[in-house]
Amino acid sequence: MPDFKLLIGGQLCEGAGTMEVLNPATEEVLAVAPRASGEQLDAAVAAAKAAFPAWAALPIETRREKIIALADRLEERADEFARLLTQEQGKPLAEAAGEIAYSCAFIRHLATYDLPEKIIEDNDKRIVRQFRRPLGVVGAIIPWNFPILIIAFKAPFALLAGNTLVIKPSPTTPLTTLLLGEIIADIFPAGVVNIITDLNDLGARLTSHPDVAKISFTGSTATGQKVMAGAAGTIKRITLELGGNDAAIVLPDANPEKVASGLYSGAFLNAGQVCLAIKRAYVHDSIYEEVCAHLVRLAEDAVVDDGMKQGTTMGPLQNRMQYEKLQEFLADARKEGRIIAGGQVEDRPGYFIRPTIVADVDDSARIVSEEQFGPILPVVRFDDVDEVLANVNAGPYGLGGSVWGEDREQLRHVARRMESGTVWINKHLDFGPNMPFGGAKQSGIGVEFAEEGLAEFTQIQVINEAR
Ligand code: NAD
Repeated sequence: MPDFKLLIGGQLCEGAGTMEVLNPATEEVLAVAPRASGEQLDAAVAAAKAAFPAWAALPIETRREKIIALADRLEERADEFARLLTQEQGKPLAEAAGEIAYSCAFIRHLATYDLPEKIIEDNDKRIVRQFRRPLGVVGAIIPWNFPILIIAFKAPFALLAGNTLVIKPSPTTPLTTLLLGEIIADIFPAGVVNIITDLNDLGARLTSHPDVAKISFTGSTATGQKVMAGAAGTIKRITLELGGNDAAIVLPDANPEKVASGLYSGAFLNAGQVCLAIKRAYVHDSIYEEVCAHLVRLAEDAVVDDGMKQGTTMGPLQNRMQYEKLQEFLADARKEGRIIAGGQVEDRPGYFIRPTIVADVDDSARIVSEEQFGPILPVVRFDDVDEVLANVNAGPYGLGGSVWGEDREQLRHVARRMESGTVWINKHLDFGPNMPFGGAKQSGIGVEFAEEGLAEFTQIQVINEAR
């Protein structure tokens, strides 16, 4: 294991304390990571603040080159990152390799954007120009499901716009982020990128810090509420990518086998720990049994094991808290529905739960109405699509959703009526850096990616000049 260090003001340094990081497949200590103190967080913010004016004054082309260099470095050590990611996060090695490759592709694409000056008006009375200025220090707070990819979502645009960064990973997945700090320390001027860790105790200090201009947060809705409250004191800019309870609505003309395969991969990627995973499927009564039978077959075929083992298709849950939460959902599902596949907690070390399909549940079941964020998929039977839409839209979340079937007109009609930031037709979980991504309602505020995402790392300035 590398010797993990924080990155503060261009220096790789020890933490004031240490913390153990477990491998979720074995529950053994994988590494001892540095744990930052409040003073170290303040030092990171101070370094980012000091580095800001010079970084912001560089031509955008210079910043762009350095962001691309970040992708180059990550790519050079992709195998090492993928292995470490599997060991700290749990996902199968092929998925971890995919996360690193996808991160590099995201960084490269996001680095291509520009912030052109816009002329709003130009006549004999006045010339009015609009500029986009950087904000200052950005705090990036990252969850444990995609530790590197979610940094790749935030860092390129934050830096391209001329901001400096303090990145804080989740306490259960800090290692790949710390390794990233080590390999990029010499790319950026001191203080432009800082990485600190915590045991869930520094988030509030970062979000309420007077020298932080913006928080870009991905995590649960409950923590998002705290971020919003913490940011209020200094009117910080915030982008919140929060929880979801994505519904997949399967119309009667869908092909049951094809749809089951799409539902399965949309629900169980990363053991279901994906904000945009299918968290509830609504299947029309006429094909319900058939779709369920295909889902059962797919769930039974899953190889649930340590992600480092060849052939594993699903790893463990990422951490004990999530594992225990999912066991509660399983207990509720047993009472509120019929478990037709999975349902077992593996009798071995590690946080393993087999992919579970729950039939004969309705919207009153907790497994349907709440975000499970794990490998349990409830399948709800319906015969009236208007009723399903009303139930789906009545919930507090609005991240993604999908509609499945053959009649394009009807699919589009249903899609337009779903109250969520992204809706797919005959697929789920397909997104890219050129498409604005964000949640409706309690799934978030603002968007990431595309021009709209870049704009959120800037302040508009209008210069209105008399002729
Ligand atoms: P979490 O909210 O528990 O933690 C996220 C991050 O917030 C961690 O780094 C954590 O240390 C930090 N944090 C904890 N307390 C804080 C506080 N008071 N102030 C500021 N930061 C604090 O989320 P999680 O359990 O790591 O991730 C799972 C959740 O994230 C799920 O709800 C999932 O849907 C959501 N998620 C959303 C997206 C999206 O893009 N919308 C993507 C991935 C995950």
